[in-house]
Amino acid sequence: MWDSHCHLNLLAVDAATALAAARQAGVLGMICVGVDLATQGEVMALAEAHADVYASVGVHPCHLADQLPDIAALRAWAQHPRVVAIGETGLDAYHEGAVSDVQSESLRLHIDLARELDKPLIIHTRAAPAATLALLRHAGERAGVMHCFTEDWETAKAALDLGFYISFSGIISFKNADDLRRVARAVPADRLLVETDSPWLAPVPHRGKSNEPAWVVDVARALAQVRGVALEDLAATLTANTRRLFQLP
Ligand SMILES: [Zn+2]
Repeated sequence: MWDSHCHLNLLAVDAATALAAARQAGVLGMICVGVDLATQGEVMALAEAHADVYASVGVHPCHLADQLPDIAALRAWAQHPRVVAIGETGLDAYHEGAVSDVQSESLRLHIDLARELDKPLIIHTRAAPAATLALLRHAGERAGVMHCFTEDWETAKAALDLGFYISFSGIISFKNADDLRRVARAVPADRLLVETDSPWLAPVPHRGKSNEPAWVVDVARALAQVRGVALEDLAATLTANTRRLFQLP
């Protein structure tokens, strides 16, 4: 399987160690996700150095510092051949208190760029489902992925109807996540992805530690249990889904 969303440049261990552990665990590849322009160069360097690491380009809604991202700089990075997606971008009313105009406008810019370059979006959304979905209606046909999904089934269903995939993180393995597990049971198999969002959200049995891409296998194992399917079968489906969405080899 692939880790569809990690921050390889932000891990507690160095990237080479994390990559070796991931390959050892059977992880076929990963998407190293950009969160701001200041660290985009680190993301690109990793994607250039390793055949199994691809990149995305974007500014996370919690990294905007009340300013719109430099769209020319985003576009320039996004045209790099190792870039397979635009994001992460989105709306966050949980950490930021409310959705600001800057967040909304930034999401719009990312959507336009994704359409212009025909790349899928990586969407971060927390506590702002209606506002996020309203903007995502303007996403292109490639749509993208709702990453680290934590919202309810109505939100998942609306995103699926817009063509989005739903990606589950280690939260699916947490004790108090029964509602999310119900959502994970209902998502069609051909729209499922898994991710670590490392260094955050380490899955059981690593909970509380600094997360790394190797542990996406534990996320997939938890998801297989929730859906009552064999891990190997789910892994094959997840790999196919990731390759299809991001047009990976
Ligand atoms: Zn992330």
